[in-house]
Amino acid sequence: MQTYLIRGGTVVDSTTAGRRADVFVRDGVVAEVGDALDAAGAQVLDAEGCVVAPGLVDIQVHFREPGREDSETIESGSRAAALGGFTAVVCMPNTMPPIDDAAVVEWIVGRGRDVGLCDVRVAGCITRERAGRELAPLGELYDAGVRIFTDDGDCVADANLMRRAFEYSIALPGAVIAQHAEDPSLVAGGHMHEGEWSARLGIPGRPAEAEIVIVARDLALARRTGARYHVLHLSTAGAADLVRRAKAEGLRVTAECTPQHFTLTDACCADYDPSFKMNPPLRGADDRDGVRAALIDGTLDAIATDHAPHAPETKAVPFEDAPPGMLGVETAFAVAHGELVGSGQLTMQALLARLSWQPAAIAGLGDRHGRPVATGEPANLTVLDVDRHWVVDERAVASQSRNTPWHGRELHGRVRHTVLEGVATVIDQEAVR
Ligand SMILES: [Zn+2]
Repeated sequence: MQTYLIRGGTVVDSTTAGRRADVFVRDGVVAEVGDALDAAGAQVLDAEGCVVAPGLVDIQVHFREPGREDSETIESGSRAAALGGFTAVVCMPNTMPPIDDAAVVEWIVGRGRDVGLCDVRVAGCITRERAGRELAPLGELYDAGVRIFTDDGDCVADANLMRRAFEYSIALPGAVIAQHAEDPSLVAGGHMHEGEWSARLGIPGRPAEAEIVIVARDLALARRTGARYHVLHLSTAGAADLVRRAKAEGLRVTAECTPQHFTLTDACCADYDPSFKMNPPLRGADDRDGVRAALIDGTLDAIATDHAPHAPETKAVPFEDAPPGMLGVETAFAVAHGELVGSGQLTMQALLARLSWQPAAIAGLGDRHGRPVATGEPANLTVLDVDRHWVVDERAVASQSRNTPWHGRELHGRVRHTVLEGVATVIDQEAVR
């Protein structure tokens, strides 16, 4: 097996905010961490001026396979994720067929393993066929390795079904019920955040209250059942406040937000560019600022991308006809680093908590991912060139799709190398396979 010496970097993980050290990788694990280690025939990965960190973990991606391989495949998505510093991802179950039985779980996870660029895991459906009518076989999915259950893409609107999913999940250690929190009756026909910009542009809106009422309802059910609850891509200050209070009360609740929701606003839709269309939508500045404050104060546990590729022809249509979703895995670290660390709002260690070990814990991946960079630990690592500035070019992405909201933007910080289970997947910003 290949051996590597990651030389000259600064290690940042859950145990250290920064310590200069070389990292020797052999047989899939971190074999040694120390000063001026001897390369001893290993391939040297230069990390001068870089941060050496546990691999990033994205608990919300859409790799579109099976069903929409024209938009993304497990291979193209895994390559994009590796280039973004991720060593593990959790694919949402809105594939075709949806992930509502063990056979689909095993097929996707096996395909991810064959590709070998990222540890590809899946979330399972809460309801059969994501149809919102009856529970999916949660126990069967759990036995196949599923820990996150969600109908993402759609909200579980039926409160009683949600209650039964919570009750069922209690018997499954480590399982969590995750919600795409948008009340369908409030967002029906809407294509962007309901506010000043939707009125000005003449585009029907999706109000913030659609998220707030679902999160409030689900928290009441989580309180009643004692089950774990996770809010996907939280986008409003109101829902963040509810999560903050629920945590203070001791409920078993976690939440995530996307880089776009703490950075961009609905004003981005002014040119009717479908690259800025997603669900939940980009909100106004007050919500954007509230989400960012909640991410900084720890109310939100994780940054997830909701990486949602759409083949170019499907997005090359009028705003209202375009499918919602944005690319995210190749830019997440750079956006978050520039916005939060570059501005002094988070330390590097606090940022990595939200991009690595905290999402790993939510998804039940903490045994292999987000581990300290220490002897004997699985070598799932990323090397981050924190001084690097670069400009996003939609033509240069590894994803099969082009729908990035960051095209033309200068970002601050870039993934230099990624190592998965002791094997380099990215060296000097190039995917190895
Ligand atoms: Zn969603």
